[in-house]
Amino acid sequence: MEISKVGNFSEWYQTVLFDAGIVDQRYPVKGMPVYMPWGFQSLDHMFALLETLLNETGHQKMLFPVAIPESVFSKETEHIKGFEDEVLWITHGGLTPLEDRLVLRPTSETAMYPMFALWARSHADLPIKIYQTTSVYRHETKATRLLIRGREVYWNEAHTSHATFEEAAENVEEAIRIYSEFYRQLCIPFLVIQRPEFDKFAGAEYTFALDTVVPDGRTLQIGTAHNLGENFAKAYDVKYSTDSGESKYACQTSYGISMRGLAAMIAVHGDEKGIKLPFQISPVQIIFVPIYSKENVTEVDAKLKPVFESLKKTYRCKYDDSNKRPGDKYYFWELKGVPLRVEAGMRDLSEGKVTLVDRNGSKKVIAIDALSKEIPAAVEAYHKKLYEDAKTFFEKAQFSAKTIKELRERMDETRGMVRVGWCGNMACAEELDKLDVGKILGYEKGNDKERECVVCSKKGKEIVMSKSY
Ligand SMILES: [Zn+2]
Repeated sequence: MEISKVGNFSEWYQTVLFDAGIVDQRYPVKGMPVYMPWGFQSLDHMFALLETLLNETGHQKMLFPVAIPESVFSKETEHIKGFEDEVLWITHGGLTPLEDRLVLRPTSETAMYPMFALWARSHADLPIKIYQTTSVYRHETKATRLLIRGREVYWNEAHTSHATFEEAAENVEEAIRIYSEFYRQLCIPFLVIQRPEFDKFAGAEYTFALDTVVPDGRTLQIGTAHNLGENFAKAYDVKYSTDSGESKYACQTSYGISMRGLAAMIAVHGDEKGIKLPFQISPVQIIFVPIYSKENVTEVDAKLKPVFESLKKTYRCKYDDSNKRPGDKYYFWELKGVPLRVEAGMRDLSEGKVTLVDRNGSKKVIAIDALSKEIPAAVEAYHKKLYEDAKTFFEKAQFSAKTIKELRERMDETRGMVRVGWCGNMACAEELDKLDVGKILGYEKGNDKERECVVCSKKGKEIVMSKSY
C-alpha cells in the first residue's frame, strides 16, 4: 500500500480490500466476492457486537430458509413491485420446471410473516422480536462494488410484530437507538434520515436510514429501519385476538445492517498504510513483535512470551516470530488494521520495558509489568482518536445551499451532505433528479426547519442531498 485515499478513494479502496485480505473478488459470479479469513472474522466480530445489542433488547436469533415460493412472495403488492426487477429465481428441480417457482430471498419479510401468522394467536404472543444473520440475494444491474453493492449481501435483519402502530413506532425508535450505539462503538459518525415517500422501503409506512460520508464525499447508507404498519400483516394474515376477543392485524417493523458496516469502517478510518479496525472488531487485537538479533532469540522470547501468554487469556493476541524483519512485520499488521502492537528487543526487555504502539501511531514505552493495566486506557485513546478524526471529516462534509447553482457547485467540488429546502412535491424532486445535482436522502430526524424549495421557492422543509453509493 502506497496509495493515499484522498483523491484516489476508489483505487485505494479496491487495493486495500485485496491487500489486507478482506475479500477476493475473482470468484466467477459478478457481485459475489469470497470473504477471506481476515475479512470474514472481522465481519463475524462486527455482527457479534450487533447481536449482543439485539439480545439485550429482547430479540431472539433464528434462521429462516433461503427460498420463498412465488405464490407467497407476490402477496404484498407494493413489495413485489419494489423487488421484481432484481430477484433471482429457482425455476427448476433437476430438469423439471417448478410449478411454484422459488425466489432467493432479497429480504425476508415474505419468508417470515406467513410463519408469524401461525405464531401470533393472542395478545400474549406479542411482541415477536427476532433476527437472523445471513445472506440475501439481489440481481443488481448497477455497477457492483465490494462490500457496498453486490448480488449476495451478508447482513443482519431483524423483524418484529406488535399489537399496535404506536408500539411498532416505538420499536423503530429502539432499532435506531441500537444502531446508533453500534456505530458509536465502531467510531462511525452518521445522520439518521427519514427517506422521502418515493424512496421508502417497498411496503413500508415510513423508513429511517443511517447515512455516513466516505472519503470521496459520497454518502453510504449503513442501516435502515422500517415501520411496516399493517401492510404485510394484511397480506400474510398476521392477526391476533385482543383480550376482549376481537381479531386485529398486527403491526410490524423490519430493520437491517449489512457488510456495509465493515465497508464504512475501512473507508472512514483507513489511511495510506491500510485499514484501521476498532478493537472489538479486529481478528487480532494486540500483535506482539519481538525484535531479535541472531544470538538472542531464546532470551527475547523468554522475557516477552510470558506476557503474551498472559494477555492472550483476555484479548485476541498473536506473537509474530516469523522470519521477516521487524519493519516488514509492522507494515503487514498495520495494513490489516490491528489496533495495538507490543514491540521489544533485548535492550528494552533487560530494563523491564516494552513499547506499546497503536495503529494511529501513538507510542509509549512502559514497564512490562504495567502492560496489562495499560491496555484498556490505550484502547480508549485509540478509539477516541479514531472517532475524532472521523468526526472532523464528517463535519467538514456538511454543507448548505440556497440555489441550484450552489448545490451543483457543491456536488461537483466537494460532495458531502448538502442541505437545501424542498416543498415535498414530486415535480420538484423530478426536476432535481433531471438536473443531476445529487439524490434526496430525506429529512434529518429531529430537524423540522422550514426552508424555501430550492426549485420552486414555495414553502418547504430542509432536506439532505448527496451523491450516494
Ligand atoms: Zn418545490
